[in-house]
Amino acid sequence: MWSSAPGPVGLVAALAAHSHGLRTTILEAEGSNRLRPGSRATYLYRETLDQLDTFSPGLGARLAREGVTWPRIRSTYHGRTVYERTFPRAPHGAFGSSISQRLQEQAMLEHVEKAGIPIRWNSRVGSVSSTADEVSVHLVDGSTIDADYVVAADGAHSAVRTSLGIEMEGPRSDASFVIVDVDEVADDPLPLVREFHYRHPAVEGRNVLVLPFQGGWRLDLQARRDDDVEALQSADGTAAWVAAVLGERYRERVAWVSRYRFHRAVAARFTDPHNRVFLAGEAAHLFAPFGGGRGLNSGVRDAQAAIEAFAGAARDGGDAAARERVGAAGETRRRAGHFNADAAGGALAQMEANTVLDRAVQRGAAFAARWWARPGMWLDSRVTSGSAERFSPSTRF
Ligand SMILES: Cc1cc2nc3c(=O)[nH]c(=O)nc-3n(C[C@H](O)[C@H](O)[C@H](O)COP(=O)(O)OP(=O)(O)OC[C@H]3O[C@@H](n4cnc5c(N)ncnc54)[C@H](O)[C@@H]3O)c2cc1C
Repeated sequence: MWSSAPGPVGLVAALAAHSHGLRTTILEAEGSNRLRPGSRATYLYRETLDQLDTFSPGLGARLAREGVTWPRIRSTYHGRTVYERTFPRAPHGAFGSSISQRLQEQAMLEHVEKAGIPIRWNSRVGSVSSTADEVSVHLVDGSTIDADYVVAADGAHSAVRTSLGIEMEGPRSDASFVIVDVDEVADDPLPLVREFHYRHPAVEGRNVLVLPFQGGWRLDLQARRDDDVEALQSADGTAAWVAAVLGERYRERVAWVSRYRFHRAVAARFTDPHNRVFLAGEAAHLFAPFGGGRGLNSGVRDAQAAIEAFAGAARDGGDAAARERVGAAGETRRRAGHFNADAAGGALAQMEANTVLDRAVQRGAAFAARWWARPGMWLDSRVTSGSAERFSPSTRF
């Protein structure tokens, strides 16, 4: 038996296990009628869509079809455009898909149900204990389920990780972000442009990311250290800064508001000592969305790595030697986690520009962007993309 939890990473792990012919059960703490609002992990890379299609044919294609891609990107510095690029027309999903996490989870859940994978709702895991022979999953209702292997995809406050005594390592920044989803005006939509504004004059010099997704806009506003974040997050506060960035007609169209601190933490180990439990997704790592939207995309890779390693170990008899590859896969994903954490951290350093030198370099790049494309490209990519896992020169994850 295989278990995980039905956030997106748990759902994907279950589909991947099913595609390998492994019998799987999903355990979820909440009820089936729960509501998970907000766009959250909006952007799925092309590679992620392809992976999803291999786990469950048609899933990636559906998410590509239902999402949007933007044909144009732009960065500004103090209100002046420093970088702009228009991409050639491409088929839907050619570069990836921007679609709210709520719709992603809905599609994943439908594929899980079609595959006949059982989900046990209202089944909160309290802890796990593993031996050389099996894993025991202890639910808070007092029952225990035995499994050969477990993918722990129980999110940022993972009970599984805690019960295994695995620490999260990495810094936590004081930088606060207020994020909103804004409904599009359906009969007169704005052009699909992804924008990053350094020191946007309309919001008193704060940084803002503007990201289109299916049906709306996602805005991430970086609060200043002396800001009253509650006020920026209040109904009046969000209405004011959304109207200043997107235009007056969006003032009353805020559909969801949240805030986050910039975490950059990676689990010290991704597997238990017996290599029967594999941490995946936010149970294993926390990155902010900047620097390439790595959270969910890398969670899908964790799930794939876990299931391939478990399937290989099971095929080879499941003894300690066969399970060593699970540990090795966990270590590879841990290193990928640090790579992603560093990229997200680089994006934060760029946005904060805490030193005189950082600020001078940014000002210099913005000035030089009047004549050359490369400095503007640097300003843009440093915050929005960094280099994705797959482009890492030294490590193939
Ligand atoms: C406000 C906000 C904005 C975000 N923006 C972005 C973004 O722009 N880009 C990006 O890439 N990512 C973003 N993320 C992160 C993204 O949402 C996560 O990467 C993604 O949800 C991780 O999926 P997951 O399946 O690992 O964990 P979760 O989505 O947290 O799912 C965990 C699941 O486990 C269940 N669970 C928890 N504890 C237990 C237990 N003890 N027993 C059983 N079940 C349990 C939960 O109910 C849930 O269903 C954002 C997150 C938030 C909160």
